[in-house]
Amino acid sequence: MPSSTVLIIGAGPAGLTAAYEIAKQTSLTPLVVEASSQIGGLSRTEERDGNRLDIGGHRFHSNSAWVRNWWQQFIPIHAAATDQPLDHMLVQQRKSRILYAGRLFDYPLSPTPATLSQLGWTRAVGFLFSYLHACCRPRLPERHLEDFFINRFGERLYRTFFADYTEKVWGVPCSQIAADWGAERVKGISISRALLDSIIPRSDEPSLTREFWYPPRGPGQLWSRVADAITDSGGQIRLNHRLARLTLRGQRIVAAEMETPRGRQSLTCTAVFSSMPISHLVGALEAHPPESIRQQAKALPYRDFITIGLLLDKKLLDANCLVATAEDHWIYIQEPGLRLGRVQLFHNWSPHLVADADRHLWLGFEYFCAQGDDLWEQSDAELRRLAIREAEQINLFNGSALAASYPIRVPKAYPAYTGNYRHTQGLFDYLTGIENLSLIGRNGRHKYDNQDVAMLSARDEVARLVQHCRPASGKGSTQL
Ligand SMILES: Cc1cc2nc3c(=O)[nH]c(=O)nc-3n(C[C@H](O)[C@H](O)[C@H](O)COP(=O)(O)OP(=O)(O)OC[C@H]3O[C@@H](n4cnc5c(N)ncnc54)[C@H](O)[C@@H]3O)c2cc1C
Repeated sequence: MPSSTVLIIGAGPAGLTAAYEIAKQTSLTPLVVEASSQIGGLSRTEERDGNRLDIGGHRFHSNSAWVRNWWQQFIPIHAAATDQPLDHMLVQQRKSRILYAGRLFDYPLSPTPATLSQLGWTRAVGFLFSYLHACCRPRLPERHLEDFFINRFGERLYRTFFADYTEKVWGVPCSQIAADWGAERVKGISISRALLDSIIPRSDEPSLTREFWYPPRGPGQLWSRVADAITDSGGQIRLNHRLARLTLRGQRIVAAEMETPRGRQSLTCTAVFSSMPISHLVGALEAHPPESIRQQAKALPYRDFITIGLLLDKKLLDANCLVATAEDHWIYIQEPGLRLGRVQLFHNWSPHLVADADRHLWLGFEYFCAQGDDLWEQSDAELRRLAIREAEQINLFNGSALAASYPIRVPKAYPAYTGNYRHTQGLFDYLTGIENLSLIGRNGRHKYDNQDVAMLSARDEVARLVQHCRPASGKGSTQL
């Protein structure tokens, strides 16, 4: 092991971006350790009987030209991508809707005549008055997400279209979620913006972007190519290596220990980039951080997630069911009493995600949950039955068309801004005080970020590392 190894924890977008940039910009050796057997983190592509399942649906879009160019090095956009379509990004026009009271409404909600007539004029006028009331008497300061939504949509629209889904995602009422979440994720959405957008559409708001790119074989296709480029340039990636311990001497990490299929392995390292969840990172630090810091880390809130890949036989599908003709990429489910949060229509993201696209439709049923709760603990067979029951209840598809189901449980899918999140400044101050530790990525910084922001955090930390580097002779011997 070279003495100036830079250890990178996690082979998700942040870890791989850091490794690639370190290999490109310095003579240090990046070593990525990844707990799972796969590249890509949350942005991986899982494969089941030849069908590719995206944990999410991962839209590739970014306001950062750096990120867009970076992606294109690995999978370019090609205007006439007919010769080798699998080597080029698909360019998709986003289509997503909200299912409410058995009807599909455009997302984001827009005050078009079609929407208004679907809602019914009486209800629409009620929404308008409720919105005007919110404009005249805004809830300030915004104490929580409920205030944030009501100020932008009015109480009635919020309760009809946002409250249920958002509470499903986070597992608590919006009045217990920090308003920061809205500021980070839906800052550009409001009734006044929707009215303006129906006249002059915008392209700069990440949560609304209409166009996105998509690797034909799912997001993992891109991250596998990045992984190959890292190893080609001398970096190392070790799968099934779980970071278990980091030894601190003073304010520096000097050694790391991993659990591997061949037992524990240790190494010395000069710098560490971590994209692992902060709660686990703090648990791995020795000497132990002060008790108050450990308690803050333990109490960091997360939300977990189950996605069930559902393969439907087109021939057996009722012609009048919703997914038979839907062109959406995903549909939000805002139907009271259902646990289903969102439905991905993977066959509309890319036909190459489906092993036999002529014969099958390929869906992802998304359920938000907490590790250990009743949903998380359901067996695969129970999850399949739940999916069928709920699909039939809202006429998404008929259960007799289901050819196969593949549940995937995803722990810590969402860093949450609930509960103790507000009381963690001491924790972040403590971690940033460790001189050679860089926190990167989504769970690595406890930020509800998309891939592009996770990558940018890695880029910026590599820039900091490069600034502190004093080049010596040859690869792997740069002094830090
Ligand atoms: C449902 C869903 C939908 C999404 N949709 C989009 C979208 O449309 N567009 C978009 O850009 N982004 C989307 N995202 C966000 C995107 O997935 C993340 O921003 C991105 O994956 C974060 O990258 P990361 O490297 O920070 O973390 P991760 O992807 O979480 O990677 C971290 C890696 O660290 C590994 N690890 C953890 N602990 C250890 C340990 N002790 N030792 C070694 N390795 C460890 C994990 O196994 C994992 O591989 C979505 C996410 C979800 C959950």
